[in-house]
Amino acid sequence: MLKKHSYALGLVWLVAIFVLPMPFLYTLSSGLPAIYNRMALPIMLGVIAYVWMLLVIYIGTKPKWLDRLIGLPHAYMLHGILSLAALVLAFFHKEGSPSSGLIKLTGDYAFNLFLGLALYSMIFMAGWLTSRVPFLERLKKRLERLFKHEISVWLHRLNLLATLLIFIHVQLIDYIVAIKPFMLLFWLASVGVVASYLWAKFKPKSEGIRARLVGNHAIAENIRELVIRLPEKAKLQLRSGDYVFISFPHLKGMGEPHPFSLVNSPKTGDPLILAIRGDGDFTRALANIQQPTDVYVDGGFGLYQSVIDDNQAKELMIVGGGIGVVPLLSVVEGNPDLKTQFFYTIKEGSSFIYADKFREWDKRPQFTSHRQVGRFSDAYILEHLPEERENLVVLLGGPISMGRHWQKIFKEAGLRSDQIYFEEFSW
Ligand SMILES: Cc1cc2nc3c(=O)[nH]c(=O)nc-3n(C[C@H](O)[C@H](O)[C@H](O)COP(=O)(O)OP(=O)(O)OC[C@H]3O[C@@H](n4cnc5c(N)ncnc54)[C@H](O)[C@@H]3O)c2cc1C
Repeated sequence: MLKKHSYALGLVWLVAIFVLPMPFLYTLSSGLPAIYNRMALPIMLGVIAYVWMLLVIYIGTKPKWLDRLIGLPHAYMLHGILSLAALVLAFFHKEGSPSSGLIKLTGDYAFNLFLGLALYSMIFMAGWLTSRVPFLERLKKRLERLFKHEISVWLHRLNLLATLLIFIHVQLIDYIVAIKPFMLLFWLASVGVVASYLWAKFKPKSEGIRARLVGNHAIAENIRELVIRLPEKAKLQLRSGDYVFISFPHLKGMGEPHPFSLVNSPKTGDPLILAIRGDGDFTRALANIQQPTDVYVDGGFGLYQSVIDDNQAKELMIVGGGIGVVPLLSVVEGNPDLKTQFFYTIKEGSSFIYADKFREWDKRPQFTSHRQVGRFSDAYILEHLPEERENLVVLLGGPISMGRHWQKIFKEAGLRSDQIYFEEFSW
């Protein structure tokens, strides 16, 4: 990942873990009556857990500024890790500060709800985790037919109910309510996060900009190309290699926004082109959509172009596999002057998409493509590494195992991690 984004990522973690809980802990500890000193630590842990849950809810609204700063995949990882950490702290809070009556009831219900949802989400909603733990990956694949992503999204929203229970839990504790500066912060943060959540869900054009699907046809076995015409005054900020969320709220089962990368590098007035592989319910149902019809588009998201710009890249090495090649096509189209070597691999039995684009680009003196069925050997790709590597940027797209393999190989070959960027198709 790019140096600037690595710093930003470190800073975001620092703010999340230490800075945000600080004022809450300070105001609480200054006002906590001495007779509760014995329980001060567990109470503090509960407060940190609550602050983190609020942050987790805010991150779940997919703030665009956070995407451009650290990328949504990292933001979702932060979202997942913080919620698990909050759960652990909540456990110690519960064990260390016994309560009774409604206070206990609201706390226990919230904890059990968080726990159940966390276990569920670790399997179905945490691509960053399942892609690293083969057992969870297998379990997810096995159960996915039953628990569709849309169901998971709805269940995930119950975390809001659990957070509300904690909010009520705190209002019931009189010695905490008596600490006015703490309660002021507590209310401000809670109302602020709820407001930002409601704004993200219900603001005008919350599902994105209404555009028209004007093309929808198969371009290869199980892959469709969608052509989307944006309204004239659409204010989408799109850059090469970006992805957008699309949804069809008027069609049954197609209302949940799904992320897809751009094939092209759209200038104002150009339609958006997406290439989508039929991997599940939403992506397979695209084949049944008659065009023209309305489609909602939200974006752009993604960091490929930032990595190129911030590194002042003079040369690109691109390794793309399967459907992961899509954003990399957009990158090539948007950066025609950069010297580029493009390594494109597909599995036996599938086909190369957009072969005509490669034929055109191959006519450029500064562009070379290498296409192969089956993976490239490490030696083959490494022998194409240029001598001058200072302004070289390596961009990767494809299955997670492939992306991680090339990240490792390029690092071992001496490239800095900020010169290599892989945007995963999962989070
Ligand atoms: C940044 C990014 C860019 C992508 N670009 C492309 C692309 O250009 N072309 C392409 O074919 N695919 C792309 N994908 C993958 C695509 O989003 C999923 O294949 C699609 O959402 C699966 O939905 P489904 O209902 O058909 O399948 P499901 O059976 O519901 O899910 C299949 C897999 O996709 C995940 N998934 C499902 N819905 C979502 C969602 N709303 N958000 C995130 N993940 C989800 C599930 O967890 C599961 O692992 C991209 C994904 C990401 C994260």
